[in-house]
Amino acid sequence: MTEAVRCYDCGESYAFGDRTRCACGEPLWFDVDPTGFGWDRVRDAGGVWRYAELLPVEPADGRGLGVASGRTPLVRTPALDEYAGCRLSVKDEGENPTGSFKDRGSAVGVAAAAARGRPVVGTVSHGNMAMSMSAHAASQGLECVVLVPERIPEGRLEFIAQYDPTLLRIAGDYGQLYYDTLELAAEVGITFVNSDTPLRVAGQKTVAFELCEQFEPGVPDAIVAPVSSGGHASAIWKGLRELRDAGAIDELPRLYFVQSANCDPIATAYRTGADDVSSVSPGETVAFSIANGAPPSGNRALAAARATGGAVLSVPDDELLEATRRLAADAGLCVEPSSATTLAGVRRLAADGHVSPEESVVAVATGTGFKEGTAGTEVSSRLVDLEALPEALASVGGAE
Ligand SMILES: *Cc1c(COP(=O)(O)O)cnc(C)c1O
Ligand SMILES: [Zn+2]
Repeated sequence: MTEAVRCYDCGESYAFGDRTRCACGEPLWFDVDPTGFGWDRVRDAGGVWRYAELLPVEPADGRGLGVASGRTPLVRTPALDEYAGCRLSVKDEGENPTGSFKDRGSAVGVAAAAARGRPVVGTVSHGNMAMSMSAHAASQGLECVVLVPERIPEGRLEFIAQYDPTLLRIAGDYGQLYYDTLELAAEVGITFVNSDTPLRVAGQKTVAFELCEQFEPGVPDAIVAPVSSGGHASAIWKGLRELRDAGAIDELPRLYFVQSANCDPIATAYRTGADDVSSVSPGETVAFSIANGAPPSGNRALAAARATGGAVLSVPDDELLEATRRLAADAGLCVEPSSATTLAGVRRLAADGHVSPEESVVAVATGTGFKEGTAGTEVSSRLVDLEALPEALASVGGAE
């Protein structure tokens, strides 16, 4: 498997090392040659490792939660067809070990760190990615450092803390941490697997492989997913491109991405025809998992929607809450409000004539709604001033 990473935008290629972004500023992804790949080449392996042929790392001697990540069901939900305005299926990513698609990227990111002899991984998250990285690190015997904001609900912190990572509560500009950590990674000896880094995207693209394999023969007319940092959206696009290049599918489904109207920088760029996504300061939304006002892969998500004839749109909180209730009541699926943006979004797309009743659409339900209450974990964390970040990271890092 290649170690080269390439810019989706300008085409520049680099040796991976720890490089995550192109000199042009855009994010990089692994350069994969999928020639010869087909459904007959899917491995008889657990979880995401079924597609190891197209991944940048092999599973580490059977260890780790990778075998439990992915292989999620594609559920046809006819009772929602009328509401959605199309033939709807739901890819239930809530079935992953920590309840979201993030486990796909964490599996590959943590396995890659282990394979390269890196004992410490890290991430910047106070939600699903934090839980996922901590769990995967635990499962492969690696240390994990998680950077959370200074103020975070205690209940949420307990969910992360149960996997026993090092928790750093950061005082200062939390948005800047995405870049600071990637810059410091090599120096402090921590493999940061942030929202849209090449390793994360490599793992997360397996959702596209799976849903196409499950949809066989043919592909859905469209795929709808929530978007925040743009890592997941980029991964779906990447996976579909690889399948097309391999000849496993003939054409790409249209990609639609949905945001909350209270934090919709990518939808705004789409609506206004802008080339680049501009940051916004996020408002309050029940869709807390998709509230990134400065998405590092915003431009890449925008490119994915435009290149496939899709769109990026946003929906108000009352609509996505209604969609959350519908998914439970009419399909038996308990999802995060963030995930229900897909149903609310496709309903709008159908009402506006972008999706028609006979079309087949897959909504990616990115995360489970079952995250109430905890086992009373004791939380230990310390407060770190942003200026003191290099030192704090170095003290937990694996650098000699
Ligand atoms: C992280 C997350 C998203 C957004 O994914 P991005 O890669 O940041 O765009 C959507 N839904 C859920 C449940 C998530 O955890
Ligand atoms: Zn570039």
